[in-house]
Amino acid sequence: MALLIDIKHPQWMSDEALREQLLQYTPRADIRIGAEPGNLDEIDMLTVSSYYPGEALNYPNLKLIQKTGAGVNNILADDRLPESIRVARLDTSTSGAEMAEYALAYVLQEQRHLRAYHAQQARSEWRHYPPREACNTTVAVLGLGRIGQLVAQRFLDNEFKVIGWSRGRKALDGIRCHAGSDELLAVVGEADYIVSVLPTTAETRGLYDAGLFAHFNPRAFFINVGRGDQVVEPDLVDALDAGRLAGAVLDVMCEEPLPADSPLWLHSKVQLTPHVSGYRLGDAVADIAENYRRLHSGETLLHLIDRQRGY
Ligand code: NDP
Repeated sequence: MALLIDIKHPQWMSDEALREQLLQYTPRADIRIGAEPGNLDEIDMLTVSSYYPGEALNYPNLKLIQKTGAGVNNILADDRLPESIRVARLDTSTSGAEMAEYALAYVLQEQRHLRAYHAQQARSEWRHYPPREACNTTVAVLGLGRIGQLVAQRFLDNEFKVIGWSRGRKALDGIRCHAGSDELLAVVGEADYIVSVLPTTAETRGLYDAGLFAHFNPRAFFINVGRGDQVVEPDLVDALDAGRLAGAVLDVMCEEPLPADSPLWLHSKVQLTPHVSGYRLGDAVADIAENYRRLHSGETLLHLIDRQRGY
């Protein structure tokens, strides 16, 4: 039985490059690439970055879909995905650390007014803005999972006040932890920066809508590295125009690439990046090879998704 790599994201990583890496861990494995899948009946494990609805049905003996990252919402959204097929993610602490760095970079840019200085340089203007102090600034991290905790820790290490929000209540050193929808309004109302690291599920899709933006602290910056479909984008634009929040940094959007006619592109209070905040897989690649081995030896698989819960 064989592992098929079909990443569909060549600008990020080619199927061949991942195959080469995996063969270092498991040299005798039958690992194929999307361009040359061979007999589809032999494919029992599929590794993807992007996934299209019905894709699993191409492989009659498929047992496992292994995502090359953490977000599996597109796979679980496939209503033709057979119940028997398991779905695994990667525990990507390397990309988690990169996402923490990304969020910190945008927060520090505002704390030190770097955008304002860059703009006034173009006008040959000499004007001071007092730096904002980390110890008097609250960062809320929404989603305290594997990546969210790395993000929260990075802000703690940089002496910010950190509050967090998750589904179940957590006890994390140095972080005031909130849980459940009842506590969300207070969290977004208090924070100077809201960093969202949530998975998309039935509960979080469309979470950031006009009703929630109405409770944001008007000086807040919203940084979304989770998934784009958690944001009702027209509501975000209206909220920014109405001054309900100060700005938004979006690494993920409802539709990617972002359509050319999206008002987000040219909005003065929006900064966009093309889904790059978490980039490298690092050592997590080894777990794809390990799951291939475990699948064929009947051992418990790593990082399985709870399909009912959605993450
Ligand atoms: P985890 O599954 O480890 O954690 C998810 C967190 O979200 C948990 O704390 C969970 O709560 C919380 N959560 C889920 N549903 C709700 C809800 N309804 N209300 C409140 N909290 C909720 O995920 P990761 O931290 O590893 O990754 C998070 C997401 O980041 C991924 O799903 C993916 O979408 C995105 N991502 C984006 C990347 C990028 O480059 N932009 C790269 C990698 C990931 P609890 O702890 O109680 O279960």
